[in-house]
Amino acid sequence: MKKPNMKNARLRGKEEVSYVNYDKQFDKFGKNKHYYVRTYGCQMNEHDSEKICGMLQSVGYTPCDDVNNADIVILNTCAIRENAHDKVFGFLGVLKHIKDTTNPNLLVGICGCMAQEEVVVDEILKKYKYVDFVCGTHNLDNLLSIIKSKIETNNMQVEVLSVEGDIVENIPVIRESKYSAWVDIIYGCDKFCTYCIVPYTRGSQRSRKKEDIINEVKVLKDTGYKEVTLLGQNVNAYGKDLYDDYNLANLLSDVSDTGIDRIRFVTSHPWDFTEEMVDIIASRDNIMPYIHLPLQSGSNRILKLMNRRYTKEEYLKLYNSIRTKVKDSSITTDIIVGFPGETEEDFNETLDLVNKCKFDGAFTFAFSPRENTPAALMKETVSEEVKMDRLHRLNEVVNKYSNNNNSKMNGKVVKCLVTSLSDKDKTKVCGYTENMKLVNIKGSKDLIGKIVDVKITDTKSFSMDGEYCK
Ligand code: SAM
Ligand code: SF4
Repeated sequence: MKKPNMKNARLRGKEEVSYVNYDKQFDKFGKNKHYYVRTYGCQMNEHDSEKICGMLQSVGYTPCDDVNNADIVILNTCAIRENAHDKVFGFLGVLKHIKDTTNPNLLVGICGCMAQEEVVVDEILKKYKYVDFVCGTHNLDNLLSIIKSKIETNNMQVEVLSVEGDIVENIPVIRESKYSAWVDIIYGCDKFCTYCIVPYTRGSQRSRKKEDIINEVKVLKDTGYKEVTLLGQNVNAYGKDLYDDYNLANLLSDVSDTGIDRIRFVTSHPWDFTEEMVDIIASRDNIMPYIHLPLQSGSNRILKLMNRRYTKEEYLKLYNSIRTKVKDSSITTDIIVGFPGETEEDFNETLDLVNKCKFDGAFTFAFSPRENTPAALMKETVSEEVKMDRLHRLNEVVNKYSNNNNSKMNGKVVKCLVTSLSDKDKTKVCGYTENMKLVNIKGSKDLIGKIVDVKITDTKSFSMDGEYCK
C-alpha cells in the first residue's frame, strides 16, 4: 500500500523529470467484461478519463452506459471544492448497494485528485472498505497493474505517490470526440494560490516536450481532427521548467504551423501571460479568439491574500490588451466570493471590475476551505448566507453581460465547428463559434464534424440559435 502524504507533497523539490514511453503489456484480462467511468471536475480530468478508457479497452474491457451492467466502475474525481467530494461519496453509496444486492463481484476504483488527498484515503480505508482500488494522479499509467493485483489477490489496492513521477508518453487513449481533442502541454502547478489544492494533488509544474506535443497535433490533424485544446492548470507557464528560450508563444506558433483548423488553450494565469503571447494569438487565424482568464477577486487586498501575484490594475491592463489586439475575442473568467476576510467593500471592488470588463461569462464559486491549504487556516469571516447572497448578486451582473455580449452577435454569420446532435431537438445540431459560443443550429446531422457558416437568429445568456447557411 502506498498512501498519499500532504506534507511530502508540499515539501517537493525540483527533481529532474524523466520522459518515458508507456510500454506495459498485459493479457486481455478485461475480455467479455464491461467498464463504466464517471468523471468529475475540469478538462484535465476529462482527458485523463480518456486515458483510463484507453487503458481499459487495451485489455479487452468494453464501455457501458449503465453502472448496473458494469464489471468495473472507476470514479475519476475532483478535489477543488467540498461539493465535489460530496458527489463522489454519494455515488459510492449507490455502488455499495449494487455490490450488496445484484453484483457482488463489481470492482470499484477511485482515481483523480481526491485519491491524492490523505484525509480522503484515510476515510476510504476506514469507512469505505468495499472500494477495491485507489490510484493517484502521478501513477495513472500504472492503473492496469493495480486492477490486475486486485483481481489476483482480492486485497484492496492503494497506490498513490506523494511526489510526481515521470511524464509518460503514449498512454493508450480513447477520445470522446472525433473532431475536437484535448492535448496536455503542462502538468501540475507551482503557483500555490492559498485557496487551491491543485499544487498538492497534481504536483509541480512539468512541461511536455515540444516535439511530443507538435507530433500529437500533426497525428490528430491527419486523422481528421479539426480542433485541439492545449491543456494545463497554467498553460502560460509552458516551457519555464524545461527550456531557456521556448515558451507558450513559441509553442502556439509551432502548433499553428501544423495547419490544424482550430487551436484553443486552457487555463491561463494572468501572471505568466505575456504581450508576445497576445500578439501571436492576434496574428494567427487558427488560434481561436477565446481566452479564459481567471480573475478570482477584484480587490487587491484579497488578491494578495490569495497569492495571485497580480493587482487588479495589472489584470485590467492585460485584459484590455487582449480585447484591443485580438479581433472579436471573447473572454471568460473564474471568481471566488467569500474568501476569508472579504468585506462588502472588497466584494464591491469585484463587482466594479466585472462592470469594467463585461466578461462573456464567468464561473463563480463560494470559497470552500480545502484541508492543508493556507486559506483553510485563515479565519473564515464570511457566513454561508453572505457567501450565497454575494454569489447571487455577482451572477446577476455576470449574466447581464453574457447576454449583452451574445446579443451583439445576433444576425451575424459566423463559423461554427459542429460537434454533435442536439439532445433536445433532433432537427438541430450543436456547434461552437470561434469565440466559443454554443450555438443550436437548424441543420442535419451530416454537418457534424464540419466547420460551417451559421447565421445567428437568437441569443440568450448561455447559448444562441442559428441557421446553417448553405
Ligand atoms: N488553474 C486555474 C487558475 O489558476 O485559474 C484554475 C484551476 S481550478 C480547477 C478552477 C477554479 O476553481 C479556480 O479558478 C477557482 O476559481 C476555483 N477554486 C479553486 N479552489 C477553490 C476553493 N478552495 N474554493 C472555491 N473555489 C475554488
Ligand atoms: Fe490552483 Fe492557482 Fe495553480 Fe490555478 S494557478 S491551479 S488556482 S494554484
